[in-house]
Amino acid sequence: MKRRDFLSGVAATACLSCAPSIITKPRPRLAVTMDDFSLSFDKVLTPLERNARILSAFDRFSHKAAGFVSGKFVEHELGDRVLKTWQEAGHVIGNHSYSHLNSSSEDHELIKADILKNHERLKSYSAYEKYFRFPFLAEGGNSEKIEIYRTFLRANGFLPAPVTIDSIDWYTASRFEKRLSENPKMGVSTYKKYYVEMVVKLSRHFQNLAEKISHGDIPHILLMHHNILNGLFLGDVLQALSDDGWEFVDADKALSHSFYQVQPSTPIRGRSLLSVLAMETGISDTGYPDAYYGFGEKTMDALGL
Ligand SMILES: [Zn+2]
Repeated sequence: MKRRDFLSGVAATACLSCAPSIITKPRPRLAVTMDDFSLSFDKVLTPLERNARILSAFDRFSHKAAGFVSGKFVEHELGDRVLKTWQEAGHVIGNHSYSHLNSSSEDHELIKADILKNHERLKSYSAYEKYFRFPFLAEGGNSEKIEIYRTFLRANGFLPAPVTIDSIDWYTASRFEKRLSENPKMGVSTYKKYYVEMVVKLSRHFQNLAEKISHGDIPHILLMHHNILNGLFLGDVLQALSDDGWEFVDADKALSHSFYQVQPSTPIRGRSLLSVLAMETGISDTGYPDAYYGFGEKTMDALGL
């Protein structure tokens, strides 16, 4: 499906006088959010080169993104330099907990302290906003813990930062990194093609799902990670999304949209907020591309990636 399919409201009749009243469907919108900021992988690009390419890709599309940072990944001079470049470029920095623990399996007092520790680590950056995203999109795992975290976050002035489009780039990148570690000079074009297509198809899927549950007008929140895949291919991904009809909306605007105050009673457990809301309204999340079930493991195996 190309951009024209999103602009699908064009009248099918041949009535030329109807032209001024042609209704076009608005373009779907998304904001990019990038998690973790683990800056250790240094094959092909140094972490600073990777960061510069990511920022340059955002800049090319005049997009203001958000980075969800775990403090433990940036406890070095390099981490501080990278965060300052995000700040200077006008992107938002959000809280992703200090130690990147799983809030479902760990004690809630430990998790709450870890969130506040990260707040202390990040608050000196003027780009820091009190958006909080759970590592692994875990959010507690059972209703009692979920409520404890929600009460805590509200009381401390944090807004939730869920995800509607999961690019599953963490899995793709983990395999890519392994191959690059074995052979840093390997060709990367097949990874590029696979990754770019995957993000476009998954974005399209979640827009379809949003429409099914009558939220087709939301600004989506796309989850990616600060990794080598995006260092190399973010510009190509953004171009492909734009070609497919997407508009980029500032992450701060998307994250503060009232839709993201919706808090389902069903545990998120690593899923898109849309999948959970659809399930709660009795609409099954059909149409998820077969190729990307199981994070795309079988497809990547078949492609030799
Ligand atoms: Zn994370």
